[in-house]
Amino acid sequence: MAGNSAGSRGSREEVIVVENLVKRYGDVEAVRGISFKVYRGEIFGFLGPNGAGKTTTIHVLATVIRPTSGRALVAGHDVVREPGRVREKIGIVFQDPSLDDQLTGYENMYIHGRLYGLRGKRLEERIEEMLRFVELYEHRNRLVKTYSGGMRRRLEIARALLHRPEVLFLDEPTLGLDPQTRAHIWEYIEKLRSEHGVTVFLTTHYMEEAERLCDRIAVIDHGRIIAMGSVEELKSLVGGDVVYLSVRAPKGVDPCSLLEGLVEECKPAAGQRIMVRAGRAGEAIPRLLKVLESRGVEVLEATYRSPTLNDVFLYLTGREIREEEGGFLDFARMVIRSRAMR
Ligand code: ATP
Repeated sequence: MAGNSAGSRGSREEVIVVENLVKRYGDVEAVRGISFKVYRGEIFGFLGPNGAGKTTTIHVLATVIRPTSGRALVAGHDVVREPGRVREKIGIVFQDPSLDDQLTGYENMYIHGRLYGLRGKRLEERIEEMLRFVELYEHRNRLVKTYSGGMRRRLEIARALLHRPEVLFLDEPTLGLDPQTRAHIWEYIEKLRSEHGVTVFLTTHYMEEAERLCDRIAVIDHGRIIAMGSVEELKSLVGGDVVYLSVRAPKGVDPCSLLEGLVEECKPAAGQRIMVRAGRAGEAIPRLLKVLESRGVEVLEATYRSPTLNDVFLYLTGREIREEEGGFLDFARMVIRSRAMR
């Protein structure tokens, strides 16, 4: 596991502490004994494919469901023994839309504020402050059903911040949004930390999102954390440049076995490609081509680059996170969400 940079963070305050957390649904072990810490002011990401256990973890931390075993503290309170205290300290934006679209933006904010015990001038001030923060103040009196997908997400974020939480949980904050709107939401998430000092815990299966936003990332797969650290720490796990070769091999010839001893690692990748880790790609590629072609393996295309988070995932699991990203489940969710956003 890449260094959890706790050591280098000296006396930074722990805001989330999770120890050996397990959650089972009948026979399904959704979360299988995970442990991690999140420090005040961090943007911490849970990155993994569909079904990895991200939502389950966020729901346990936000006291929506109880864990099967293990322990979790949020803002100093135990999620099982003191759920009410935890809820006072957190805001959550769920994966599925949760606004009332027959009400205006302002009314959605108002009801939420009252549920949190805010009233009068204090409530009005907070609503205005948060709506201005997400640039929706001018649109406050419009029905939510007339809002775009991005405006709804921003309203959900503003609503979650109304009671000034210490920790904001965002479950797949940009799922189903177009790239431009996604980038816009990222700006708000960054501003949350810089202007409001909020600790952000987010789940995502978009590597670009994790890379852009997160100070540290836990990579989760099949209910287990398989790596944790900053983007740089995670990438350093993969080592040197990553070379992708599109190959056509004669029957019975495994291109990777031909490269044994020549490269640090070789694995099959999607689309008849092999992924090779080789210190300096510029020098390694000619050597690889020579060996492969001498054994009848045709190399149709060679590309290389510095490692990405997808390479990290491939390195750790033998699978590409992207294979699952474009899957049916994801597609179905986007359709459901975009309908709900209409
Ligand atoms: P996604 O992005 O698809 O939501 P995820 O990483 O958030 O993925 P979870 O939703 O936490 O994953 O699901 C983890 C596993 O637990 C999956 O196998 C899922 O099918 C299962 N699971 C989740 N909720 C329930 C439930 N209420 N009952 C039974 N199984 C569940």
